[in-house]
Amino acid sequence: SYAEALPELSVPWRADLPPQPEIAWLNEELAAELGMDPHWLRGPEGLALLTGQIEGTTAQVYAGHQFGSPNPQLGDGRAVLLGDLVDVRGRRRDLHLKGAGRTPFARGGDGKAPLGPMLREAVIGEWLHAVGVPTTRALAVLTTGERIAPRQGVTPEPGALLVRVAASHLRVGTFEYAAWHLDPEVGHRLLEHTLARHHPSADGPLALLEAVTGAQAELVARWMLLGFVHGVMNTDNMALSGEGIDYGPCAVLDVHRRGAVFSSIDRGGRYAYGNQPGIALWNLSRFAESLLPLMGATDPNRAVEQATAVLERFEVRYRQAFERGLAEKLGIPEDGREGVGALGDELFALLETQQLDHTRFFRALDEDRAPAQMAGWLEKLRKLRGDGVRTHRVNPLYVPRNVHLESALRAAHLGDLRPVLELLGAVASPFDARAGLEHLETAGEGGEGFLTFCG
Ligand code: AMP
Ligand code: MG
Ligand code: MG
Repeated sequence: SYAEALPELSVPWRADLPPQPEIAWLNEELAAELGMDPHWLRGPEGLALLTGQIEGTTAQVYAGHQFGSPNPQLGDGRAVLLGDLVDVRGRRRDLHLKGAGRTPFARGGDGKAPLGPMLREAVIGEWLHAVGVPTTRALAVLTTGERIAPRQGVTPEPGALLVRVAASHLRVGTFEYAAWHLDPEVGHRLLEHTLARHHPSADGPLALLEAVTGAQAELVARWMLLGFVHGVMNTDNMALSGEGIDYGPCAVLDVHRRGAVFSSIDRGGRYAYGNQPGIALWNLSRFAESLLPLMGATDPNRAVEQATAVLERFEVRYRQAFERGLAEKLGIPEDGREGVGALGDELFALLETQQLDHTRFFRALDEDRAPAQMAGWLEKLRKLRGDGVRTHRVNPLYVPRNVHLESALRAAHLGDLRPVLELLGAVASPFDARAGLEHLETAGEGGEGFLTFCG
């Protein structure tokens, strides 16, 4: 439907034929949601779909601000949009194939994707979904039978494909591309398409800005509460649906630290854990700029004023979402939520100075194992907390910790998929402790100096 509505924003493109495709992991639960039979997906027709050997596929063009600098043309450099379908609950979902070979929008790269980063994206998506955060997900990860050039080290990696399911692939960068290169008529069509798809009750560019601002405030608040670091919040990686997308050098905090950066390419720390709300607002400001030509105001200053007024509400909406989520994590009932903002600020400062593990701290609250040095803060919490409240259904036990994820991906690289399948199973049901998974409950050695690489 995207290619039909907006032919200016994609080109017909076919994925490379992989020499020897094999399913490494199939998301049977998601397949059922899409109305697809897993047996069919594993058969020849299913494999044709999962490797992009079907009619009507396209590569999308977009632009974006990368690390703060405008890039006039980006796009699916190694991916194709397979198409969209309406799932069993009536939601329209995109199917997208990453690692499908070079497209007209490829820059330097070979168009291929290594197995490790594709599995990483699958693990992160399943975990975020399981903890109730809007996210794209993987329907499958396949190996292609190729060996591809290493990004680090010297060992070639297995080539892979990620079949991604998303509410859409409309990004801030899509609007930037339209504003920078195309006739406003296309921008208006893009606006209508985006509204109809994601925010059907909204009308006009300001209402879209408002809706996307709200969705991003909610999303980033959820990330902050979980200790999740996206790692590369460029405007081309910000989806207008409000789903998190494009998990490259992302990570989950072990020890709580505002300045935590795990991405090998983020040398300035622009996308550090604690910067994420501010970066979301920065990206929304770029989005607002791309909407200005569509605002139809005879007085351009008036359009800027109106957009600014919407952006100024981001902070309040973020704080509301953060405090609501924090109250849930702490077991504070609706009527005790007035003091939760101050309590939360104090808590996050304490977690950092006491060098506490973010995930384990929240989990331990339920088990009365909170560290002694937090006694003063705990006394304040006790006054607000409901009696006999249990929060173990809100605070995950299993999170994709750096050390465990990295060692699972290393094993997969060497041909053993068991550790990553085990991790996928753990994070997909992250609240219930299970025998045999104890080793995934703690950070392990070496998580702090950890670096991830873009795949
Ligand atoms: P990302 O950081 O994953 O959002 O990617 C930024 C841009 O680089 C996107 O337009 C990708 O399509 C492109 N890209 C990333 N890796 C490759 C590759 N191996 N070959 C071609 N293009 C790539
Ligand atoms: Mg991207
Ligand atoms: Mg990417």
